[in-house]
Amino acid sequence: MKEILPSPPPLVRNQHEAVKELFHTHVVPSYGRFDLVFSHGAGSFVYDVAGKRYLDLGGGIAVCALGHANAEITQALVAQSQKLVHVSNLYYHEPQGRLAQQLARLIGPGKVFFSNSGAEANEGLYKLARKFGHEEGRFEILTAVNSFHGRTLAGIAATGQDKVKKGFEPMVAGFRHVPFNDLPAACAALSPATVAILIEGIQGEGGITPATPEYLLGLRAWCDEKKLLLLLDGVQCGHFRSGRFQSFQRILEGVPGGDRFVPDGVSMAKSLGGGFPIGAFWVREPFADLLGAGTHATTFGGTPLACAVALKILEVIERERLADNARSLGAWLLAELQRVANAYPQVLKGARGLGLMIGFELLEKEKIPALAASEKSAALQFVNRLHEAGVLTIPSGNQVVRLLPALNLTRMQAEEGIAIIERVVKELAT
Ligand SMILES: *Cc1c(COP(=O)(O)O)cnc(C)c1O
Repeated sequence: MKEILPSPPPLVRNQHEAVKELFHTHVVPSYGRFDLVFSHGAGSFVYDVAGKRYLDLGGGIAVCALGHANAEITQALVAQSQKLVHVSNLYYHEPQGRLAQQLARLIGPGKVFFSNSGAEANEGLYKLARKFGHEEGRFEILTAVNSFHGRTLAGIAATGQDKVKKGFEPMVAGFRHVPFNDLPAACAALSPATVAILIEGIQGEGGITPATPEYLLGLRAWCDEKKLLLLLDGVQCGHFRSGRFQSFQRILEGVPGGDRFVPDGVSMAKSLGGGFPIGAFWVREPFADLLGAGTHATTFGGTPLACAVALKILEVIERERLADNARSLGAWLLAELQRVANAYPQVLKGARGLGLMIGFELLEKEKIPALAASEKSAALQFVNRLHEAGVLTIPSGNQVVRLLPALNLTRMQAEEGIAIIERVVKELAT
């Protein structure tokens, strides 16, 4: 009864193992990787080297806004690369100016600085805040418990999770964490050195927790009163994922005073380039010229190629009304996950999120017999079972599994995803 299934053809198995072997020998092992080796994708599907198809509900961690191998992105890449890939920021070029114009149109009057990643976009916000408070000797930035802001030295100091800091002490000075969605706690934490507060509109790595409208409006009033900068990390929750360009716009929809809310700075990356690396931060008008000539720079920031791709992605998202798709399909997915959670309370605690940024929470590992024995977290084991079943998702902490799919995910694909998730939940329930 041992060998019921034939083993995979040797060539296929070898490619999987050969690629992994290259990594084991030559790549710094700083990532915990899943046992999957991918070769190509199309839309919301991605294929491993053995030809198995996966429905990608992780979107490369909220990056592949238009899915894989999008023809219009390819076209934009090819066309721009035939004209100008890079000139450096010693000169002007049209794509960077146009992209900055578009981002400011979507947030509010202000200006944009381009970087290459989310962590680097946040670094720019830290420097902006320090410049803002410098003459008064203010430098301290408050951030939230369970936040995530990137893996640079200042990024791990800003991040409100101990696991990213361990082994890299001493931390960059000038960051302190306060409980999320707790306005009195933020107010109580104010010191004479405080200059800004940075939060995610929806905490991503922290388990998919949206800021409340009261928190956002309260922080705005408090920051105005105390002369603090209100900075939002929109790296994961931004770029129409919530159903609006930035998640604070969605959270404050229909809330009295909500349409007048504007933060002082917003960082972006992930979906901004749809897989091509680009980050940015927007800064509100009165502070837009704080970082003057010579104060901040990066070689690759806002290349013609990166900006041409980002412009094309914005164009496609708006033309195809993908924000509306994120809103309606996200609402459907969330309702379905809540239905599954209600049907299987012995496995799922519930589901939450906004638009196509959704998390469902598993019970503690010890309470799910099929998961209790393993060393791995419940979320990790669930994600592995979904891989077996042909769906990609992203763990967030020990008990939450995240969906961050392409904004052009279809209803049929969403239905396929829910059916598979429900099947895996059902297996764990029996
Ligand atoms: C991913 C992420 C970052 C870091 O972005 P990188 O491009 O990995 O540097 C920062 N903030 C949030 C909220 C993120 O999700």
